[in-house]
Amino acid sequence: MSSLDNELACELESRAKHGLTRRLRSLEHPGGCYVYVDGKIVTEFASNNYLGLAFDPVTSGRVTESDFGSGSTGSRLVTGNYTVHEELECAIAALKATDAALIFPSGYQAAVGTIPALVGRNDLILSDQHNHACLIDGCRLSRATVRVYDHNEPKHARALLSDRAQFRRCLIVTDGVFSMDGDIADLPALADLRDEFDAWLMVDDAHGTGVLGETGAGSAEFLGVRDRVDVHMGTMSKALGCAGGFIAGSRTLIDHLIGSARSFMFSTAPAPVTSGSAIGAINAIRDMPERREKVLDNARFLRAGLRALGFSVPHGDTPIIPVLIGSAQAAVALADALLDQDIYVVAIRPPTVPDGTSRLRVTVTALHTRSDLDTCLDAFDVAIRRLGWMPRFAG
Ligand SMILES: *Cc1c(COP(=O)(O)O)cnc(C)c1O
Repeated sequence: MSSLDNELACELESRAKHGLTRRLRSLEHPGGCYVYVDGKIVTEFASNNYLGLAFDPVTSGRVTESDFGSGSTGSRLVTGNYTVHEELECAIAALKATDAALIFPSGYQAAVGTIPALVGRNDLILSDQHNHACLIDGCRLSRATVRVYDHNEPKHARALLSDRAQFRRCLIVTDGVFSMDGDIADLPALADLRDEFDAWLMVDDAHGTGVLGETGAGSAEFLGVRDRVDVHMGTMSKALGCAGGFIAGSRTLIDHLIGSARSFMFSTAPAPVTSGSAIGAINAIRDMPERREKVLDNARFLRAGLRALGFSVPHGDTPIIPVLIGSAQAAVALADALLDQDIYVVAIRPPTVPDGTSRLRVTVTALHTRSDLDTCLDAFDVAIRRLGWMPRFAG
């Protein structure tokens, strides 16, 4: 074994001891909410395909590879800027009701490019304790002073702003819908802090976009604070069923990012075919409000059913339903027992979530039927009988 392999094998072994091994599972999608795992077809309650658009003809076929080739051949600033990218940006700006928008190859890249383009050494960032990894990494890259406030506690954030005057700029950054908890940020309270302390508010609405709000614009629309968010971030990889990240906001913000967000400048533009699909998905969000109703209805039903079985499931209004377990090993055992019964749910363990808060992250889509949901609840019921324990999450 080489020195590198030796060293890394030790690390892998120690991770395995703590139930933290990560493996890639090969999946195939026959469509709908079903998936082939390990050679059998199972019902999936794990994806972010909330509206079922990832396998829907409305999102594909608008632009094909034969129209543009398979790649965009360069950065947007060099040879990679196509009409389809600009059309998509117009569609995003319309959805978010902002002046302008800018697309990135992924949501991750949108975050790590944008935060350092806005704040630097003499600036202050307030970041929610449960923010997504891409926001955390963006904060680190910026070299600003980062203060982490307790999850969804604007009062704590406020206390951390007492010496705001010592800093040049101040950015408050939060997930709109928290990806592993499924709760919604208290955006009105954060917007008040923005106004009071001359701060800017950035919301990563990866999971709210397309799902929440009257028009599907997301959590800021849902909470009535669209105009008080300076930087609307999102991704087309979740409810839109495509790929690519975006920032929406003022024309000035977007013009600034074009010349200073490094992950935008130094990365090849998204494949035109992907951006074409995303336009189809945004049109679907506008034209198919019944999908939003369906997914939220399904979420309410499944959440209530899991609570009735005795699981520790926080209240919430989104399709992300965390079933809190505690230890990583127990979470994996429950997920395995569900897979045995053809229900695919994923155990979420550290470092994605804090130690001792491992969970099953159950998600629903607009494609699940009432009978799919009943089957899922039955499987949970059988699983705890077979395992002989009921998770009592002490929190
Ligand atoms: C998935 C996710 C991202 C990353 O988006 P990608 O387009 O998949 O890179 C960013 N933020 C949150 C909250 C997410 O859940």
